[in-house]
Amino acid sequence: MTAARTLQRAGQRVRVLEASAVVGGRVKSREQSGFTLDAGYQVLFEAYPAVQRQLDLSALDLVRIPPSAAIKLGSKEELLGDPRRDPGVIPGLLTASSLTVKDRLLFGRLAASVALVPPHTLLTGPDEPTRAYLKRMGFSDRVLECFFAPFFGGIFLKRDLSTGARLFRYYLRMLLSGPISLPRQGMSVLSEQLASELVSGSAITFNARALKLTPHSRGVSVTTSLGELDAPQVIVATDPPSAARLLGEDLPYGSVSSTYLYYTADAPIDPQFRLLLNPVGGLNNTALINNAQWLSHLIPERAPAGQHLLTVTVLGNPELDDAALDTAVRAELSVWYGVRVSLLRTLAVERIAHAQYPQPPDYAAHLPGHATRWPGVLLAGEITSMSGIQGAMESGEKAAAIVLGDLATMSRPRGA
Ligand SMILES: Cc1cc2nc3c(=O)[nH]c(=O)nc-3n(C[C@H](O)[C@H](O)[C@H](O)COP(=O)(O)OP(=O)(O)OC[C@H]3O[C@@H](n4cnc5c(N)ncnc54)[C@H](O)[C@@H]3O)c2cc1C
Repeated sequence: MTAARTLQRAGQRVRVLEASAVVGGRVKSREQSGFTLDAGYQVLFEAYPAVQRQLDLSALDLVRIPPSAAIKLGSKEELLGDPRRDPGVIPGLLTASSLTVKDRLLFGRLAASVALVPPHTLLTGPDEPTRAYLKRMGFSDRVLECFFAPFFGGIFLKRDLSTGARLFRYYLRMLLSGPISLPRQGMSVLSEQLASELVSGSAITFNARALKLTPHSRGVSVTTSLGELDAPQVIVATDPPSAARLLGEDLPYGSVSSTYLYYTADAPIDPQFRLLLNPVGGLNNTALINNAQWLSHLIPERAPAGQHLLTVTVLGNPELDDAALDTAVRAELSVWYGVRVSLLRTLAVERIAHAQYPQPPDYAAHLPGHATRWPGVLLAGEITSMSGIQGAMESGEKAAAIVLGDLATMSRPRGA
């Protein structure tokens, strides 16, 4: 949509084929029994440079998420976070057992090291697994297990800290240098804003799945679920598995999946509004819950009046059916909430097969560019950059820039 909108604004005739009935892909929301559910648990880092360029954030009715977390240690919890923006964590920071005195000092050094350079430069230079990087800095195993693993597990959807340290530092910079937000009405308003000019100009055809591309001397024929279409140029901007199928090419890295359980309650079982982290069992833990949040404490509009919404993130796609998964997650929640777990009603279980793709050290060296094996066909979407909203949007900007011959945008560094 970023590519299409840029091209349309530049006076090009654009047609977007969208396989589903709505815009947004993974950045979307839905209503269920009066609750607003995003696709899984996701947040917007307002500091993403592409977000700053492309979105009118003031029109999204954003609610700021505290840059902090409550580490659940059985029925107790400890607070960690950015004390400048969530002063409520300060007493806990001084006494928490989840980090050592040295960890406290190292947090300051780490934050300063990412704050003082242009963000995109954090994506260059030597790379290593985040775990190795944090150990080399001197962080304790305890803070890795209690904070870094579940917190960044929630961002990269892998809790083993195997993601490249360059990307970790870039995301840390994004976290520290701008608010983390959620639109009051759901993440879909972000996609709807991007798409609004395209929708009003009737440039999007919904329920139109591209099935096959056939390049020819004057352009490309696109076989869609609604019929044939001819275009001088085509940008494939699907999720990476669909792009691989359309282009007949192997795209690197595969998929990271994640699973979400949504619970509702009439009573506020837990007053904690911050992100809840589950450190149980070490880095390679077998606990199902990685993180959770009472979203309705932050955004009451996400639930009907007097009701509450808890979103639980389980990394991967457990080999349990929905009922067994629900039972197992409830057993873990009972460690936090005791018998009050019986007050929770299960609203939905959602499994997302391709939530992101893994981003190990040096992954960027193997990413595909925008060129494909076919003249007239460009690739866009997160797979050309990084798995996330910044990556998807900057990729769209660049694909459009290639069509328009806009050298300044084409040569913008990744992450800038
Ligand atoms: C649970 C979850 C949590 C996340 N959390 C965050 C987060 O906190 N911050 C962040 O930055 N990122 C997060 N992400 C990642 C982010 O959502 C994605 O990186 C981003 O949406 C990728 O955008 P995209 O346009 O490349 O692909 P998609 O969003 O997957 O969009 C692809 C579109 O292509 C359409 N399509 C597919 N095949 C075809 C076809 N053959 N023909 C026509 N249309 C087709 C799809 O219907 C879809 O609309 C999260 C993702 C998930 C799932």
